Amino acid sequence: MEAQLLSDRDLSSTAARLDSAPPQEIVRWALQNHRPGRVAVVTGLQADGVAIADMALAVDPGVRVVTIDTGRLPRATYQYIDVLRRHFGRPIEVLLPDHDDVERFVTEYGVNSFYNSAERRLDCCHHRKVAPLERVLETVDCWMTGLRRSQSASRAMTPVVQRDLAHGGVVKVNPLASWSDDRVSAYLAARGVPFHPLYAEGYTSIGCEPCTRATTAGEDPRAGRWWWEYGLDKECGIHGRPVLRRTA
Ligand code: SF4
Repeated sequence: MEAQLLSDRDLSSTAARLDSAPPQEIVRWALQNHRPGRVAVVTGLQADGVAIADMALAVDPGVRVVTIDTGRLPRATYQYIDVLRRHFGRPIEVLLPDHDDVERFVTEYGVNSFYNSAERRLDCCHHRKVAPLERVLETVDCWMTGLRRSQSASRAMTPVVQRDLAHGGVVKVNPLASWSDDRVSAYLAARGVPFHPLYAEGYTSIGCEPCTRATTAGEDPRAGRWWWEYGLDKECGIHGRPVLRRTA
């Protein structure tokens, strides 16, 4: 079934019907309502996305599991990719940014220009993350993500199923929208799936090495991402252009 054959009405009624369904049921719906090979789990290898990969592989052992290597990931993330390959017994697709794009960008602005302004940070995220994602989304009808409502204010209204208008109208499925951190952790532990090693070092959200730090008790889980910025959503642009919220 082509993504476009699922009307907006189908998607809204499915989103309402599955809103409180177990994530495994939502994952199954995604896999059963799109063409084989045209569904991908796209994950930054945090606990949420890895849990969805585990759920999807249990239904379809051939489902695509995709991650983006920005070129600036922590060493622990590269090691974790191999750990997961062994655990799941199958390849993980690793997408790279267009090297001409990145070369032009770092030559013009510097290798760490993301520290200089919100504009440069968003440009870097665009070249290294958003553009590679757009490439993979041209090859699918449906992508699954680890977005959860409790992760941040900007994610509080995340539906379980939606039309992704920012990416050509593909279907975007967020099976864990209603789950908490603890439920995700309990799921992975019960399934014996290895965790990203940086969680044990106090990280509560994991992205590129120069843009992520561990958090302290009481901090927002995403406070360690782009920690030097104020007023800009803690998003890279994969889930919509971040909004700059200036305060007087
Ligand atoms: Fe660039 Fe930092 Fe965004 Fe990674 S998180 S793509 S290094 S700005």
